Amino acid sequence: MEGPAAKYYVARYRWQMQEVAKRLPRSLIHSLILAQLLSSTIAPGALADEVDAETVAEHLAGAIRFPTISPADPGDFDGQPFIDLAAYLRETYPLVHQRLDVEVVADYSLLYTWRGSRPERDAALFMSHLDVVPVEAGTEELWQHPPFSGAIEEGHVWGRGALDIKCGVITWLEAAEALLAEGFVPERTVYLAFGHDEELGGTEGAASIAKTLEDRGARIALLFDEGGSIADDNSLLPGVPVAMVFVAEKAYLTLRLTAHGRGGHSSIPPRHTSIGKLASAIHRIEENPMPPRLTDTMRAMLEASAPHQSFLRRFAFNNLWLTKGTILRSLLKDDLQRVMVQTSTAATVIHGGVKDNVVPESAEAMVNFRLLPGDTPEGVIEHVRSAIDDPDIDIESLGWSPAPPPAAIDGPAFEVIRESVNAVVPDAVILPALLPGATDTRHYTRIAEDVYRFVPVRVGSSLMESFHGRDERIGVAHLGEAVEMAKGMVRRSASLAQAP
Ligand SMILES: [Zn+2]
Repeated sequence: MEGPAAKYYVARYRWQMQEVAKRLPRSLIHSLILAQLLSSTIAPGALADEVDAETVAEHLAGAIRFPTISPADPGDFDGQPFIDLAAYLRETYPLVHQRLDVEVVADYSLLYTWRGSRPERDAALFMSHLDVVPVEAGTEELWQHPPFSGAIEEGHVWGRGALDIKCGVITWLEAAEALLAEGFVPERTVYLAFGHDEELGGTEGAASIAKTLEDRGARIALLFDEGGSIADDNSLLPGVPVAMVFVAEKAYLTLRLTAHGRGGHSSIPPRHTSIGKLASAIHRIEENPMPPRLTDTMRAMLEASAPHQSFLRRFAFNNLWLTKGTILRSLLKDDLQRVMVQTSTAATVIHGGVKDNVVPESAEAMVNFRLLPGDTPEGVIEHVRSAIDDPDIDIESLGWSPAPPPAAIDGPAFEVIRESVNAVVPDAVILPALLPGATDTRHYTRIAEDVYRFVPVRVGSSLMESFHGRDERIGVAHLGEAVEMAKGMVRRSASLAQAP
């Protein structure tokens, strides 16, 4: 629905799709050094500085200067910057590192435990990640400020990770440091969980942290991860600050189609070769996508925006029983909006043939689907089978990753976000939304009830262009309010009475 967030995820998942989620090399020595660094105590009496935007910007700039890269080739992984970044965080946030339990998980990921006075309550967890995507080779010189310079210029903090998502790491740590300085004591336990391989799928970091917590019997009532942010130029409500909170995401399914046919010399070919049959099959799938529909999340998003819309749109969004057909047709016209109301279909890989004068006996393709909540892999396979309607095409599932169930939007957790944002940005409209991609919050599915993908930073669409791209940067002016909102989210989450 909204351009910036969609772009953000298109960029992000294009990258992730290219990566092989292999295990990164581990280093026992690194792990020991990190544990040593983090366990050493600091001199008592050190107190957090007053939080203001410039200070936060300095802290963020410092974090950007460590090239904590998740490389395309796992063999290129360098753990040293992660160790240096952890040491930097310890120096920068002394109270956090003095008062919270800090653990190194999977060698480079960080788990902070802020014990609550009511530990019997389910915990709150704030997720982020320490790694960044590489800078495309040959483009370093094209950046206005070098990608790991952490330059603070022209009102922005520049560098890889400014948006994705060292701003999140810094915001949560600033909030915790400030709350500690104010003497705040959480009731429920609060975790800060920063993985080191999110850009490769989080199979080491997030997965290991979730496993560590699960083994301890921890239950997470509220989980906040990256995803939505606050924008003033959301196309659904232009000119109004809109906080997009992704409460649901799509599931992931890849099918392999294999076409069979008579092979042989190309001078006496069959009427339809295996390649021709495969091409027809892909064409039929594209022409017959899964039926569109308004999910509960999409309905909630339209209805939540209704009071702020013009008269006609308000009427349409308040009467979806009457207008849903028209709205669906309009959304289907746009690639970015279509994925919000339909299971998407993307042919991504094709193989077949070895030589120009040989008809191959088989050809195969991979088709990736992102499923709307409620659609099932069995349903998609059945749909594809009937759309192709060709017994010479085999259909086989190559991988299925379910999405966490949609988070509640009428409960106290969503209110935590609403109250915390509106306390700082009173005119912001908080909209629940469906994320068209997948996140590594799925590693937490077994221990977390509700997952909210939202970081309280203000980022306009012009900056989103730099997401995973050139000149990544974030505005200094809004970093102070980001920390204020983050403090509100931590404080309210930690004090929320246990849900029945
Ligand atoms: Zn990220």
